[in-house]
Amino acid sequence: ALALIWSCSTKKTGMQHQASAKTDIDRKADSVLRLMTLEEKIGQMNQYNGFWEVTGPAPKDGAAAIKYEHLKKGWVGSMLNVLGTKDVRALQKIAVEETRLHIPVIFGYDVIHGYQTLSPIPLAESASWDLEAIQKSAAIAAEEAASVGVNWTFAPMVDITRDARWGRVMEGAGEDPYLGSKIAYARVKGFQGNDFKNAKTIVACTKHFAAYGFAEAGRDYNTVDMGNETLYNVVFPPFKATVDAGVYTFMNSFNEINGIPSTGSAFLQRDVLKGDWGFNGFVVSDWGSMGEMIAHGQAKDGKEAAEIAANGGSDMDMESSVYVEHLAALVREGKVKESYIDDSARRILKVKFELGLFDDPYKYCNEANEKATVGKKEFHDGVLDMAKKSIVLLKNQNDLLPLKKSGQKIALIGALANDKSSPLGSWRAAAKDGSAVSVLEGMQKYTGNQLVFEKGVDVAVGTPVFGSETKINVTDKSGLDKAVAAAKDADVVVMVLGEIGFQTGEGRSRVDLELPGMQQELLEAVYKANKNIVLVVNSGRPLILNWADANVPAIVEAWQLGTESGNAIAQVLYGDYNPSGKLPMSFPRNVGQLPIYYNHKNTGRPNGGGESVFWSHYGDEKNTPLYPFGYGLSYSRFEYSNIRLSSNTFSGNEEIKVSVDVKNTGKADGKEVVQMYLRDLFGSATRPVRELKGFEMVPLKSGETKTITFKIDKKHIQYYTPKQRWEAEPGDFKVFIGGNSDAPLSADFKYVN
Ligand code: BGC
Repeated sequence: ALALIWSCSTKKTGMQHQASAKTDIDRKADSVLRLMTLEEKIGQMNQYNGFWEVTGPAPKDGAAAIKYEHLKKGWVGSMLNVLGTKDVRALQKIAVEETRLHIPVIFGYDVIHGYQTLSPIPLAESASWDLEAIQKSAAIAAEEAASVGVNWTFAPMVDITRDARWGRVMEGAGEDPYLGSKIAYARVKGFQGNDFKNAKTIVACTKHFAAYGFAEAGRDYNTVDMGNETLYNVVFPPFKATVDAGVYTFMNSFNEINGIPSTGSAFLQRDVLKGDWGFNGFVVSDWGSMGEMIAHGQAKDGKEAAEIAANGGSDMDMESSVYVEHLAALVREGKVKESYIDDSARRILKVKFELGLFDDPYKYCNEANEKATVGKKEFHDGVLDMAKKSIVLLKNQNDLLPLKKSGQKIALIGALANDKSSPLGSWRAAAKDGSAVSVLEGMQKYTGNQLVFEKGVDVAVGTPVFGSETKINVTDKSGLDKAVAAAKDADVVVMVLGEIGFQTGEGRSRVDLELPGMQQELLEAVYKANKNIVLVVNSGRPLILNWADANVPAIVEAWQLGTESGNAIAQVLYGDYNPSGKLPMSFPRNVGQLPIYYNHKNTGRPNGGGESVFWSHYGDEKNTPLYPFGYGLSYSRFEYSNIRLSSNTFSGNEEIKVSVDVKNTGKADGKEVVQMYLRDLFGSATRPVRELKGFEMVPLKSGETKTITFKIDKKHIQYYTPKQRWEAEPGDFKVFIGGNSDAPLSADFKYVN
């Protein structure tokens, strides 16, 4: 029988909003804290990677034996990467039965876009601009993960990303702080729900704090150097949004920022996060990032790393062991205040109380529940819905799409068309390799046409391994002729080209963003045989599609769409779903343009449209992206007209309204994401040429017109000014409304004091 000394109710207390008044949870955490030794408190701050196959004998030597001893002593507060209820139960049993204070462990895992039933990668989901669907997708991931003993996910990643070379752009919501904030908020709500009563929701973790997405030259883990203007106005907003959503944990980042590794940054963790934003949860370090402060050249050894991290406000050490090894000595030497240890341990205990782990440490691990939950039909329906909503139609000349449902001969070409692994993308948690529906399988369900498949060429050679380069030295051209022959014989060619699943993700930065390997050669060879090509792009990032855009009549960005990928793509290609996605990142024309983003500043030498050579430009490429942020087509056509303001001046806390008429002039019923951008013409600091400040998903039947109205108030125009505070400065503004960030319709207004 379980000897639990903590028997408490799990009443919801709203942990984020209790800055001063003590809540039930505070009191419970304090009551535990009072009984703890310094070492036990530090133990709560220690997180280990799953170290032991519990089905085998207990570890006797090496690192695993040390970790095992630490667990039994109550020196392990959390574990990550322990999979399945059986293992979670076994390890939890040691924590609650063999340790002096019986404190349960919190089990974390990277549930980034699902556990076993995968949703699209987060960048793809973000292309839906559908906050409800995104929240639901996170809720599905949470429920499935919760059923196998996971009670904490290391998601959402809310890093703003402007450089497609960075492999981790696939994990975020793209380049825009407004869209990114809305999505970050929705993801936290999806994972955490309203409470943890039914063990169907899990604790979320906002990462990576901060500015990890701005790694120089898009090379993962690289240096970040950034002023407050960008930090506050661009990087911080999605992080802050998750605090507003009530997120319980944060993760810091591998990068240094302005000379200080984030892991040791008191400015980020103590001043901004826990101070200004009143965050009451706990901060976990990124994997080994405390120890990495040595390689950064800031800490001389593990002990100094522990000192800097603890003083910097990192509450939990993920897998570098510097806390468990050195913190107690540092406290005794007076180098780290004991109150800091109390604060960190209390924050961690509170989250465990919120989760209800003190009531029932096995709440999240019940084998019957695991069997009944993992892979449920409704999860498949949910991720399929999300996948369809994530697809972006980039080009559709002469209405080549949707395909006819019968009487056509279709050649399906490209290794990715028959790939059941790549659609799972990176961070595939416990998804079984090869468990995705391929495009070939999806299209085979439409039996009215004749379908021929030819691989053409492979995308890459072998299976990419983390930390090494992905080998794409494909030399085998033997399939090329067969692909060309199939194309010649077809009415329409569907080509699925792009990246394999592991060409993006952590540690997978790339400098070449053209179609990898010999896929461009394949595309051009097929094009010579048959110009009627629908190009389906599978990628975890924006790729360079200039040639395709100039030549191929139809292009569909289909990202890496998860378990139901092929079904979603087939339903869009055949017109059973009318695409509505919009790009969350600009697609460059050339890698040399990176970083590229729509909400850039003007220079002192903008292009006035004249002939002057004295403007900021490249001699060999345009400044504009190939496809701008917010861009995406539909099988319907949407026309915007009649932009008007309720008033062209407002002051103080007043608001004005801006309206526009949107008409579906196409034959198909559809949905359009109507977007509103603002420009502050003259600020005390320079302001971006446009900033997204509102959007609405509008369903429109063929021939239907709707008037869409957005409110504009002080909140929409305020920014973090050179006075180092959020202010709405009086002055002249422009509002733009349209179907992408290039929207031509505009109106002028003033904000006066
Ligand atoms: C990543 C994190 C992740 C952690 C645990 C790190 O390498 O940067 O995003 O949550 O590993 O797997």
